[in-house]
Amino acid sequence: KAPSPIARTEQPASHLFYGSRQRRPLVERAEGIYVWTQDGRRFIDGSSGPMVANIGHGNRNVIAAMQRQMEKATFAYRLHFENEPAEELARLLSQKMPGDLDRVFFVSGGSEAVESAIKLARQWAVATGQPKRWKVICRMPSYHGGTMGALAVTGDLALTETFAPQTLAMPAIPAPTAYRDRDNLSMEQRGIRYADMLEEKILAEGPESVAAFIMEPIGGAATAALVPPDSYFARIREICDQYGILLIHDEVMSGAARTGKYLGGDHWACRPDIITMSKGIGSGYAPLGAMIASRRVVEPVLDMGGFQHGYTYAGNPLACAAGLAVLDEMELLGCEENAAAMGDLLIAELQGLTERFPFIAGVRGKGLLIGADMVADPQDFTPLPKDKHANQRLLDLAYERGLIVYSRRIRGDGLGLDNFILAPPLIITKEQVGEMVGVLGDSL
Ligand code: PMP
Repeated sequence: KAPSPIARTEQPASHLFYGSRQRRPLVERAEGIYVWTQDGRRFIDGSSGPMVANIGHGNRNVIAAMQRQMEKATFAYRLHFENEPAEELARLLSQKMPGDLDRVFFVSGGSEAVESAIKLARQWAVATGQPKRWKVICRMPSYHGGTMGALAVTGDLALTETFAPQTLAMPAIPAPTAYRDRDNLSMEQRGIRYADMLEEKILAEGPESVAAFIMEPIGGAATAALVPPDSYFARIREICDQYGILLIHDEVMSGAARTGKYLGGDHWACRPDIITMSKGIGSGYAPLGAMIASRRVVEPVLDMGGFQHGYTYAGNPLACAAGLAVLDEMELLGCEENAAAMGDLLIAELQGLTERFPFIAGVRGKGLLIGADMVADPQDFTPLPKDKHANQRLLDLAYERGLIVYSRRIRGDGLGLDNFILAPPLIITKEQVGEMVGVLGDSL
């Protein structure tokens, strides 16, 4: 591993156990796009945590709404009591969904939302007399969560192989990395070609065995803001309809105004059957997630005797009060409009950086989910040597300069490109975009 340039401050041994031995400074406070640590440093949160803090940190209205709810009831178990914030949030969320997606199932995070979608698809198949349908086709590369079920639809062998066999049970098709394909096809044709791979996979697996297909409308962690060609979406819907397969859109990262519209799929007027959300809907104020499904899918399951699934903290009034206040603030602060406008600016700024740094290629994304690759040759997207650890170097050098970026090496598509994402809070100003890109430039 390349040596990290971050000065290690001496901290007492910790009993916390997350993933690695890496230590980080203690957080002190956070406001807007900035986070301060106890050692007196200030960071620009250029990725909103992992694309969570959509309305920005330290929002006083959300904090006040949560305090008001705390005075009333912080917890009420759904099997014993209904609660108003959950009812109201479900009503408002369903108004933002396409088609007849107006059944909302609350959870506490993204992985729980994806688990819920997988189980709902499976139980829908059983409830509609198609008990052989159990597979959920996913894409490679992709990320859909860390629990065993969500991992099984995650296309990243580095994450899934250790936990085999359960995590390798689901079939995968390539994600449409069409922006860097070198062929004679138009973007339009590439979109269709990638979508047709779903049909080929369904036929190879046997249509009677497939319950659902899961995808992010705009790719997040695994592909650094990958945007499929426009033609992809309609063709995917057509194939799902033809074979009676449910379409699940994972909007955990792309949803909640992140890409300049409330849902990533709204850019193409998509009509999925199930949508998963988390991250931005709680914006870091509360652990909150939701699975929103169409009546057509939910009703047979309820008729069958109920959805055999649920979590203790689901729909708790405090998290839902936070979610309601976040929705209000998104509207008041104009998050969708600002994400669209600042995203255009950010794309232009990054394209400017490609002239200074020829190893940057494939600038892409929508709204404030913007990614780029770091390559040896920008013409044919030749990866940088793995032992250069470009992604870790960028993370470290930016961190040292007070900027949080999201950087990984794409895995599972055979190429292994280093990439980074910029996804600041949606309230970022023009001046702050300039400040962020300035620090990024120094780090690059
Ligand atoms: N789906 C997507 C698209 C995600 O990006 C993530 C988290 N990065 C998840 C699911 C899992 O969410 P969580 O970490 O909240 O469980």
